[in-house]
Amino acid sequence: MKKRVAILGSTGSIGTQALDVIRKHRNLFGVEVLTAGRNAGLLIEQALQFVPSCVVIADESKYAEVRDALSLLPIKVLCGMDALSDVVTLSSVDIVLTAMVGFAGLAPTVEAIRAGKNIALANKETLVVAGSLIMQLARDHGSEIYPVDSEHSAIFQCLAGEKPETIEKLILTASGGPFRGMDRSRLERVTCQEALNHPKWCMGNKITIDSASLMNKGLEVIEASWLFGIKPDRIEVVIHPQSVIHSLVQFIDGSIKAQLGLPDMKLPIQYALGYPERISSDFPRLDFSECGNFTFEKPDHTLFRNLSLAYEAIRTGGNMPCIMNAANEMVVEAFLQEKIKFLDMPGIIEQTMSRVTFLSSPSLADYAETDAEARVVAGRLIKGNLQK
Ligand code: NDP
Repeated sequence: MKKRVAILGSTGSIGTQALDVIRKHRNLFGVEVLTAGRNAGLLIEQALQFVPSCVVIADESKYAEVRDALSLLPIKVLCGMDALSDVVTLSSVDIVLTAMVGFAGLAPTVEAIRAGKNIALANKETLVVAGSLIMQLARDHGSEIYPVDSEHSAIFQCLAGEKPETIEKLILTASGGPFRGMDRSRLERVTCQEALNHPKWCMGNKITIDSASLMNKGLEVIEASWLFGIKPDRIEVVIHPQSVIHSLVQFIDGSIKAQLGLPDMKLPIQYALGYPERISSDFPRLDFSECGNFTFEKPDHTLFRNLSLAYEAIRTGGNMPCIMNAANEMVVEAFLQEKIKFLDMPGIIEQTMSRVTFLSSPSLADYAETDAEARVVAGRLIKGNLQK
């Protein structure tokens, strides 16, 4: 039986790589749903190739273009954000790959879990914003969450056959991004183009900026804490510029397990979609005689303050990670539009975290309100920053 996959965000970096994986394993996977934000052209191309039951274009102004292009095929075409939450519940869907970016991924993921679907989770912001609620919902509805992020996939693979109580700590590796080792005066001058030039991974713009600022690693600490039920104080971040060791687990007897591989997101995507089977692949193999030395460093929390802010947010709990996430989405967008500088980002996030109403036990509706409030506050701070 083929696994029938719904891909939320099929036109993005993770979405297109997932379709590469599926193209190679047509006997194992079928594409049931494809969704995009605005990229109607690529969505149409993908739909013509994979002929899913349904496609969604979130941007309603692109609906007619997609509908007309697919009118001769038995493909239902929908539009708008609400449609994303509807299509993930289709009875024909076995697994939902959440490859949308940002807070927008939360609502459809919640609906997929409520419908008992298994989730291949790339959209880390979902767990950052509402980890407690998502994990509880998954338990209640018998939905499994398989990580796609390479670090979490590494930990997931290291934990196979291990008892949770034997975990001493998780060690998340980070490439350090394009600005590793730079001093403050250089960081003050870095450009958006430099930030988008990641040394190891080719990814969407938002996560690439998050990687440069180390916010990505902070989001991953929060994601790991919820996925594996480990307190943040037992999650360590180590800079490993070669990006070959994807993460490690240290056990109570002092033994450490690691998962290694060439930096290629198709591997963790395939592992998540295929789980519990390990599927063969023709991805390039790691050659130890050619990969040189492995090096490790401590992250610089003073220059890359976002990492500390993420630890602070998860330790505080409640809606604080949601506030931090919304502020981060706003500053990343402002940085991409060259409205603020690289080093302006942590200050704006920190001030937003101190100004937005704190809730210790938020509901799903509270998260939406917090996100909206935090965006207003961060927006004002960005504007104020512009006028300086
Ligand atoms: P991209 O920006 O490349 O792709 C995002 C996808 O989501 C696109 O299909 C985009 O559609 C769609 N999308 C964006 N906003 C909306 C919206 N408001 N409504 C509906 N659809 C929307 O992102 P990535 O693939 O890089 O990342 C996706 C997620 O995976 C992120 O959460 C990221 O942190 C995570 N991740 C990514 C990794 C990577 O290597 N890229 C690695 C690990 C995790 P369109 O382009 O058509 O507008």
